[in-house]
Amino acid sequence: MKRKPIFLKPYFKEMIWGGNRLRTVFGYDIPSEETGECWAISARSEGESIVTGGVYAGQKLGSLWKNHPELFGYPDSDEKEFPLLTKIIDAKEDLSVQVHPDDTYAQTQENGSLGKTECWYILDCDKDATIVIGHNAKDKEELRRMVEEGRWSELIREIPIHPGDFFQIDPGTVHAIKKGTLVLETQENSDITYRFYDYDRVRDGKKRQLHVEKSLAVAKAPYEPVVREPWVEGNVTRYVYCEHYGVMKVDVTGAMPQMLLQDKAFMNASVVSGSGLIDGLRIQAGDHFIVPFQYGVMALEGDMSVVFSYPTRRYASEGKNYARMHA
Ligand code: ZN
Repeated sequence: MKRKPIFLKPYFKEMIWGGNRLRTVFGYDIPSEETGECWAISARSEGESIVTGGVYAGQKLGSLWKNHPELFGYPDSDEKEFPLLTKIIDAKEDLSVQVHPDDTYAQTQENGSLGKTECWYILDCDKDATIVIGHNAKDKEELRRMVEEGRWSELIREIPIHPGDFFQIDPGTVHAIKKGTLVLETQENSDITYRFYDYDRVRDGKKRQLHVEKSLAVAKAPYEPVVREPWVEGNVTRYVYCEHYGVMKVDVTGAMPQMLLQDKAFMNASVVSGSGLIDGLRIQAGDHFIVPFQYGVMALEGDMSVVFSYPTRRYASEGKNYARMHA
């Protein structure tokens, strides 16, 4: 019997910089007018997605990962944790300037955690919106000096953004999402963030904790911009393929269904606009689901855009070996 897409109910997180667009744009039932993050496809225990229908209804993604490795094409002994995390971020205010460690640093300094490589697909933003990506210090020494002297406006590299832009944030890249931005974020399953600078904001008489020394330890200097042109093939736009994940968008329009082969271990999918069908099942903006291992070809119909991400550490062919082993 053909496997079915696994639909998930997100978890919502309030943040001092959050807003209400997760409700106004996607219709989610959010906890407050300061909701910053929708953890859409998450196996993290502090905010886990729950399966909404089918034979696995009610199960948390983390237990599904543990108990049903056959759905994900991963040998159970191999990868301890679900490798990816998909979020939607509503930044009503600026997020802190931050930096993430890579896997090697996080392994030793953060209790064996994964590091954090992340990427952003800009769903929507204000006309004059910007993001911070990189800095202007020529080396580590200058970076430290500028931080100590508080010369942040000189230091940070801020660039204008537009809906549909895509950014890969490698570990060691100083970055911040700025106000007026709605982002779909795909990342390694990690929550290790070093807060470098928080604009001296005070909330309830307190500033949020900074991690300046760790930030200086992992921040790369000088910053070298990486230009990645998306690779467009028909209705499929491939944005990135790195050692942790690949991300692509499929735009579906018109009468003909768009066929897409699920040839990865598994695929995470987020409908980012419009509505339509996947193999006859209705889907709409704000829906998130997993297309399981060996799903085969899916037919997407309607008028919608769907962003897919998949882990790259284990390829479909290795997944097939796994299936053979467990046949
Ligand atoms: Zn980040």
